[in-house]
Amino acid sequence: MELCIQAGVELPEYPSRRRTQPIRMLGKKMIDRGGIIMPPKSTHSDEVLELDTHRALERFPPPVDSDVVKIAQSTLNAYEKVRWGVAKLMRKYTVKACGYCPEVHVGPWGHNAKLCGEFKHQWRDGKHGWQDATVEEVFPPNYVWHVRDPNGPPLKSSLKRFYGKAPIVVEVCVQAGASVPHKYKPMMRLDIVVPDSEESRLVA
Ligand SMILES: [Zn+2]
Repeated sequence: MELCIQAGVELPEYPSRRRTQPIRMLGKKMIDRGGIIMPPKSTHSDEVLELDTHRALERFPPPVDSDVVKIAQSTLNAYEKVRWGVAKLMRKYTVKACGYCPEVHVGPWGHNAKLCGEFKHQWRDGKHGWQDATVEEVFPPNYVWHVRDPNGPPLKSSLKRFYGKAPIVVEVCVQAGASVPHKYKPMMRLDIVVPDSEESRLVA
């Protein structure tokens, strides 16, 4: 959302003060502050509720069975579209990720707050180690095991090396009936036959 706001999207629930003229920098020093920054008018809208995920499960009724596949497919399409858009925007707006902790920062320079949560190296003095972020750091896939048949027997740890993984949103949508996007098929190991546990010892 921060990346989209920086790219110019106005979201009433996240009012943003915007400069009317560009600031001028000399190196990292600001020599002209640009135009007057007006505080945004505060507005309230129903969109706030839509973005608030707190207890969202209780707010929305479960889908009717006949809609499930359609919802799964459109959710998966939306997921892919967001991932595509994030990758595009990151080509234009710099995003930094800390090499030591999960913090991500949208902007040309990582901030200097000494809040790095990871093991405190004395030489870093609590500062983050900023690097250019990857798409995965900005939009984490959160890989989970792919379950071929949710109604079948549970996964066996002895067969672990035959199981594939998928980003959690992809896995949920596929289990709900969405078709598997081509690029995830090898990752989900749909190309191999999972042996019975007795056979697995015999497989090289
Ligand atoms: Zn850090």
